[in-house]
Amino acid sequence: MPTTALALLNRPSAQAPEHKPGGFAFKLVDPAGQYLSVLDLGVTRGDGIFETISVGDGAPQALEPHLRRFARSAAALGMPEPDLDAWRTAILAVISELDPAPEAWVKTVMTRGIEGDSRPSGWAYASVSGDFTAARTEGIRVVTLDRGYRHDVERTSPWLLTGAKTLSYAVNRSVLREAARRNADDVIFVSSDGYVLEGPTSTVLYRRGDRLLTPGTGLGILEGTTQGSLFELAARRGMRTGFELLTPAELETADAIWLVSSVRHAAPIRELDGTPRPVDAELTTAMNDHLANRVS
Ligand code: PLP
Repeated sequence: MPTTALALLNRPSAQAPEHKPGGFAFKLVDPAGQYLSVLDLGVTRGDGIFETISVGDGAPQALEPHLRRFARSAAALGMPEPDLDAWRTAILAVISELDPAPEAWVKTVMTRGIEGDSRPSGWAYASVSGDFTAARTEGIRVVTLDRGYRHDVERTSPWLLTGAKTLSYAVNRSVLREAARRNADDVIFVSSDGYVLEGPTSTVLYRRGDRLLTPGTGLGILEGTTQGSLFELAARRGMRTGFELLTPAELETADAIWLVSSVRHAAPIRELDGTPRPVDAELTTAMNDHLANRVS
């Protein structure tokens, strides 16, 4: 069995009449093959959306929240509504093609399609995960970087698509190179008016006493599925949870801080802007156990 698998979605729009009957919803293909046109707008303009879903022991995690966010991103970009039944089945199919592994991930991608043709392109790609033990146990060094947008950009300028998970992630990668130049592993974006936002591929979570908190939604940041799962864990442990607009100086006074995301799970921050930070090892372990054992 392979360590990667790929399914191509056939015209992944609920509206496409060719979709059924007779047409396939998706087909499994050789992941080493070449399928994408050089004119695909996902490639030429980064015009499309994606999700990355973690897989624990063969089961997709937080699948429905991911699918809902996929549909929200499609709506934000004015793309056809994704046929979530077809996507769900394709996701399960690519997972079942993989070598059994404790951790894997599936990426779903829908682009605006080939220039001049109104049909989107779509695929689901699965792969066995790398090893995130060091980030989860030893922690990560993080720097804050200005994102250049105000915290209310989602409301004032929705055309910037800041709350959607688009394929335009060149900036989200470039900030990691800037982090490396500053001897750090990851980044927390700060708004131009001085509020904590999110990581380039993660949500900021922090603890104050018995409260587990995160910057609110509606700040031009993604609603994290991992944060949602960890708020459920916190409630089960008798902790309070909440959303809070805060500055980097206020974040520094937290008891512990994490960057949380679907595949790396909970990475405690052991250094912020060059200053060492306490790591809550007990809660970190509980978080990562919870995330590893989540089923949809
Ligand atoms: N924020 C951004 C910008 C992201 O790209 C991601 C995930 O890739 C997240 C937050 C965390 O989302 P999730 O927990 O659903 O993986």
